[in-house]
Amino acid sequence: MLRSNSYDYIICGAGCAGLSLLMRILRHKNLADKKILLIDKETKSKNDRTWCFWETDDGFFDEIVFKKWNNISFFSNDYFSPLDIAPYQYKMIRGTDFYNYCFSEINQKSNVEVAYGDVKGWMYEKEAIILKIDDKEFRLLDAGTQIFNSIYKPAEVKKGSVKLLQHFKGWVIETAKPSFNPEEATMMDFRVHQLHGTTFAYVLPFSNTSALIEYTLFTKNLLEDKEYDKELKNYITEFLKIDDYVIKEEEFGIIPMTNERLSFKGQDAWMIGTAGGQTKASSGYTFQFIQKQSKQIVDFLGTNRSLSNFPATPARFRFYDNTLLHILFYNKLPGDKIFSQLFKKNKPRHVLRFLDNESSLQEELKIISSLPTWPFLKAAIKQL
Ligand SMILES: Cc1cc2nc3c(=O)[nH]c(=O)nc-3n(C[C@H](O)[C@H](O)[C@H](O)COP(=O)(O)OP(=O)(O)OC[C@H]3O[C@@H](n4cnc5c(N)ncnc54)[C@H](O)[C@@H]3O)c2cc1C
Repeated sequence: MLRSNSYDYIICGAGCAGLSLLMRILRHKNLADKKILLIDKETKSKNDRTWCFWETDDGFFDEIVFKKWNNISFFSNDYFSPLDIAPYQYKMIRGTDFYNYCFSEINQKSNVEVAYGDVKGWMYEKEAIILKIDDKEFRLLDAGTQIFNSIYKPAEVKKGSVKLLQHFKGWVIETAKPSFNPEEATMMDFRVHQLHGTTFAYVLPFSNTSALIEYTLFTKNLLEDKEYDKELKNYITEFLKIDDYVIKEEEFGIIPMTNERLSFKGQDAWMIGTAGGQTKASSGYTFQFIQKQSKQIVDFLGTNRSLSNFPATPARFRFYDNTLLHILFYNKLPGDKIFSQLFKKNKPRHVLRFLDNESSLQEELKIISSLPTWPFLKAAIKQL
């Protein structure tokens, strides 16, 4: 099944992290000719997700950004406001555009082999790697091969581990009458009921008659499918005041939000993407962290630096994430109140920089001091 018996790099998982890394390798002058094996258990043909993120400049995947917004709004029962996010733009990429874009380039490269199957594992032996795909074993020559793994396997729940699920269902709807301002997206709308825990909706308009609307929760358990439908319907009629529409597409997703330590250095592989800790524990945002990580990996590989020296996420950001996660998990404060305070008392660009792990200590102190002191102090002490 495999064409070759030796590769420079093996990339497990052709999702966001695997493809982001591969695309950068292929565009790096010192790495473009490396022999690479990419493996996934499925062909990436479905529009299985939509990525939103913010950025100040043109990013690596700017060509396939489906829509950008300069204006973002935030709603809760305590506070609502347009957010001036300059110098950032809020951007959206559709999964299907991302996969097609990457594979149209990858498929032209004779040095990249794409294989489909369930990766069951691998073992380094003397000068060889035994790679198991489905029920087959492949003995590959170890040519200094580096394996990058984006296959996420949740760890066993340990004492002290905290795990929430960010789960959401979204509909792309088409309305009979003009109903949206295509220049303004709603990043978070917390006016929906909070009976299950932290819950918000968001609206990404593509035109004045079409938008993606998502209903999102940060809770321990999923809802029944019909509940997401009921809440989406309710949000569209009650808050957006739209009655006449058709559902064109649906999306459902679950993102783990956990204090589990997912490191870059795995067993016999470099862990990337969600599996390598690139999902921000307190927000679920991952796309931009994956982009930063892929760029940095390629910088290391392109200059022959050992990935053993790859820098970890600064500890203070993990500490902030775990503190907020603790508060949400143990219901010490309602999520809608926390996010309202964050946006009410801080400049939006500072909040976005903070959520990107790019803020300065001074900015962080200001942001932290805008939040209720006691619950955060107690949760912080627990983390220490
Ligand atoms: C519906 C949805 C919407 C999201 N929206 C956003 C967003 O707006 N912004 C944001 O920042 N983040 C978002 N995320 C979170 C995150 O960006 C995505 O989950 C992202 O795809 C993570 O990239 P990844 O490469 O780590 O995992 P994936 O993209 O899931 O890639 C993993 C790949 O591994 C393959 N695989 C798994 N097991 C095996 C196996 N045993 N053998 C072979 N292949 C295997 C899978 O088929 C998949 O292709 C979203 C997540 C979901 C699910």
